[in-house]
Amino acid sequence: MKLSEIPALLREIGVSPVKSLGQNFLHDRNLARWIVDQASIAGDDYIVEIGPGLGVLTEFALEKGARVLAIEKDKRLVQFLRERFTNQNVEIIHADASEFDVRTLYAQSRVKLIGNLPYYISSQLLIKFLEYPSPISLWLLMLQKELAARLGATPRTSDYGALTLQIQFHYRVEYLRTVSQNVFLPKPDVDSAIVRLTPRAERELPACDYAVFEKLVRRGFSQRRKQLGKLLRQEGADWERIVTTLGLNPWARAEELSLEQWIALTNCVAPVDPGKDNIEPEEQFQVVDERDTAVGSAPRSQVHANNLLHRAVHILIFNSQGEVFLQLRSRWKDRHPIQWDSSAAGHVDAGETYDQTADRELEEELGVETTLEKVAKLPASDRTGLEFICLYQGRYDGTMRLNRTEIEAGRYFPPSVIDDWMAARPNEFAPGFVECWKVWREKSS
Ligand code: SAM
Repeated sequence: MKLSEIPALLREIGVSPVKSLGQNFLHDRNLARWIVDQASIAGDDYIVEIGPGLGVLTEFALEKGARVLAIEKDKRLVQFLRERFTNQNVEIIHADASEFDVRTLYAQSRVKLIGNLPYYISSQLLIKFLEYPSPISLWLLMLQKELAARLGATPRTSDYGALTLQIQFHYRVEYLRTVSQNVFLPKPDVDSAIVRLTPRAERELPACDYAVFEKLVRRGFSQRRKQLGKLLRQEGADWERIVTTLGLNPWARAEELSLEQWIALTNCVAPVDPGKDNIEPEEQFQVVDERDTAVGSAPRSQVHANNLLHRAVHILIFNSQGEVFLQLRSRWKDRHPIQWDSSAAGHVDAGETYDQTADRELEEELGVETTLEKVAKLPASDRTGLEFICLYQGRYDGTMRLNRTEIEAGRYFPPSVIDDWMAARPNEFAPGFVECWKVWREKSS
């Protein structure tokens, strides 16, 4: 759509741009095409577009053969877009993107997010759609230039701050180009910029407890002119030891530390132990025969190397909305790292009962104590990793204390989302959970 055509079109559909909805329509078609190209869209991609407006980006995304879900808050534009795009690959929903349930996107095998975001709500939308872990594999966004600069900032600059580090912890940020106000109608007061974000590789950065990292970073930048040591001492950190261990300038301010230094600092304050899983081979497992009768014990490494039958528990914790908590296994696990698993799970140690293991694992992994009910017993097979599995379920709505050495992240999901997700992306789940989920589904139907 050309600049000259937009006013007539807006008049025709009875839309006068609303400032409070951030309605500045892009009229440069070449730029729109270039923006969409930066998302490397393929025919099997599922594109979520926030705020399609008159559909300038939607058109090019559809041209790539992708399916598009466009979320638009303005009803008048929704009606226009539904008439404009009759392609069956597009779904236009009338909704506030800040209320969209991102978890439903796990049902699609590859999701990319594009949008020329309404400025008044950009930060809120960023926080929501960039929440880690995410079903989205690429974000291509037009933002207010200042916000884009903060996302991609480097140390020792005024743009570098808590937001930079929170985003860059999980994502690589590329500031692609600045966009002049002149390409919009109506013309906004500020320039824009296009950024592309992609998830970091699995072990690109050292392990660290993200919750502690976030707390320290926020504190460090709460008064950015103040020396970091003074601020962190108030958080109980042993600043002298940190300075010596990391070789830092004792008078450094928050903006002087790189992302890697912030991670190292976090590990000084609250170390995570990525090596723990590799020490676990010395744990003694209960070894059993094909009828699940105890026949002895053996260290973990021997149990796995010699294909000995053994025992495990899986626990599914539900909240009062009927959603089930899944954990994302730590990237440091020797088996099935970065795969989604039951709320808690673990091997039965020598001399332990299934019930005792279930209570212990729940406490060790999630810091939760609750009554558990036995749901089923799964026979040992190749699919369960030669484990007899006792499956439990329980109810819990309180706060969890996740064991960061074992667990990367965790979240509650509606069971129907898990069904669709498992069909679309089976490799994202640990195999033992897949077996347990099938059994739980049979029992609960
Ligand atoms: N993508 C179009 C373009 O580039 O011309 C329009 C971009 S305009 C900056 C922002 C769009 O987001 C508008 O169409 C506006 O109605 C829509 N919008 C504003 N708030 C929204 C929200 N909370 N959820 C979904 N869409 C929203």
